[in-house]
Amino acid sequence: MNLLNSILTANRNFIHPGAFPPLPKNPKKQFAIFTCMDTRLVDFLEPAMGIKRGDAKVIKNAGNTLVDPLHGGVIRSLVAAVFMLGVDEIFVIGHEDCGMAHIDPEQLKNTMIARGISSVAIEKHVPDLAQWLGAFSCPSENVVEVVAKIRANPLIPKDVPIHGLIFCPNDGRLEVVVDGYSADGYKQRICESSERGTHEHQ
Ligand SMILES: [Zn+2]
Repeated sequence: MNLLNSILTANRNFIHPGAFPPLPKNPKKQFAIFTCMDTRLVDFLEPAMGIKRGDAKVIKNAGNTLVDPLHGGVIRSLVAAVFMLGVDEIFVIGHEDCGMAHIDPEQLKNTMIARGISSVAIEKHVPDLAQWLGAFSCPSENVVEVVAKIRANPLIPKDVPIHGLIFCPNDGRLEVVVDGYSADGYKQRICESSERGTHEHQ
């Protein structure tokens, strides 16, 4: 049985009409996660964060990299999440032992050519393969950089906290590398809402 058929067989066994109550589009916990596509994070990062189906928006790519911080798909997804889907906080989560760290662009180029990709096309469209892929040497440095790029994006509200964390894909441990609550925009939001609260009680 090929992979497609085995997946369809699994799906027929999975479906139980009425077993899954419909959920709203907007995340229950009002946050978005931007993380890596690493297979070890599947069905592992979410339980490690205490979240379930329906709780959060999850955006993934190779190495949670942001190579086009103004027009790329990640930013467009975050703008949609914030302005259309009720997201109020953002978590950028890299992980230890990421496959995007230490990419060898020459080796990658040779692998692509061996699979029939034209070297002319590579040179024309992606002359700097490593930069195009968003390669990095340190996952936590990449997280700090991505948080800063999202923070600097003029389309993301300044009062939305953007946190940066590193995840261990083996034991599930999370460590904070950027605390989004320390940003000025968020502090101002808290200050203003507490002032409003004070006034409301007067
Ligand atoms: Zn990764």
